[in-house]
Formats: sequence, C-alpha cells, structure tokens
Amino acid sequence: MEPMTARGRTVVPAREGRALRLSAGQRVSIVDLEGGQVGDVFAFAADDVTEHLSASHTRAATNRLFPAVGQQFVTDRRRPILTLVSDTSPGWHDMLIAACDPARYAALGAEGFHASCAENLRLALASLGLAVPVTPQPVNVFMRIPVDGQELRWLPAASRPGDAVTFQAAMDCVLVVSACPQDLVGINGGRPTPLAVDLLPDLN
Ligand SMILES: [Zn+2]
Repeated sequence: MEPMTARGRTVVPAREGRALRLSAGQRVSIVDLEGGQVGDVFAFAADDVTEHLSASHTRAATNRLFPAVGQQFVTDRRRPILTLVSDTSPGWHDMLIAACDPARYAALGAEGFHASCAENLRLALASLGLAVPVTPQPVNVFMRIPVDGQELRWLPAASRPGDAVTFQAAMDCVLVVSACPQDLVGINGGRPTPLAVDLLPDLN
C-alpha cells in the first residue's frame, strides 16, 4: 500500500483505505469518482494519534448532525482538526454510524473474510507506521442516513460522479479515507466503487 505523500491525486480503490499526512492549512478533496459511494473519513492529531476527530464532540460544537460548510470538526480534546470548506454533493453525509468491521459483516451473514472500514483504517495507518487503540466513529461522507424522529433509514448514497467534499486541516494531522466495502446493506447501491483523494495546491 502506497501512502500518499506528494501533491496530486491518490485513488482509493473500492473496498480499500489510504492514509496521508496533512499540514495545518492544507486542503484535500474527497471525490466520489463514479457516484453513490460512501467514504469513511478519520483524522488524528499528528503529534499524538490518540487524539482523534470525534463525531460526538463535533456535534456538540456545531449544534448539528453534520457541520455546515465553514464549520469545523473537533477532536476528543475539543480542538479544531478539520474545516469543511466546500461540498458539491447533494449534501448527505453521516456522523452517527460506526465504521463497518468484521463483526458487522458476520452479523449480516458474510462468510469468511470481508473487507471493512475498521480494517482499512488499521492497514492505512500501518502504512505510515502508526497504530491507534480504538476505531473512532468516522465522518461518513456521502452516506445517506436520514433521521425521522427516533428512527434512522439507510439509503443509497445520492452523490453523483465527480461530487467532492473539501476539508482544510486546522492542525497537522493524519487523514484516513476508506472506500466503504459495504455491499450487504444498500448504502453503496450494492456495488462498492473507488474514491479519490486530491491534495489541493497551497493557498498563498
Ligand atoms: Zn464501511
């Protein structure tokens, strides 16, 4: 697995994950190449990866289920780590659902190995020589989980080919993107596809 180090595009193959280091101020776009694909995004403080982007702390900071453009994601120590800079998708993203993992697929009836976002996170961090003790709740870009009172629904992602969300690092951090391998629940339309991670030119 090749960690992304240079400016440019890294394709995250369907069912796989990739990690990259971001310096504070750098911007990165996550692109749904074919449309209808969920990406699980994780971020960790570069100087201490036990500090991670926290969905619950972010919801408390923003008073929203998912930040609006211009708002920030914060860590479990309540420090800003990413800013949501832009979003060309229909705007469906999830910050309620845990990363898929081997136990999830076993419960859904999968037999034998099934790729998962939790395992992709572990492998992607390992490509940078890093490891974390827990799987944080991810930022699930393009994932469409509408809330109806106390009920959640699991709908196919509505993102179109080329739709992108762009984040700016608020601190030096490690970003991980997993092209979610879920094919037993309909969030990816039953057909996992690749994503791209574009590191954008620095602002002057
Ligand atoms: Zn997943």
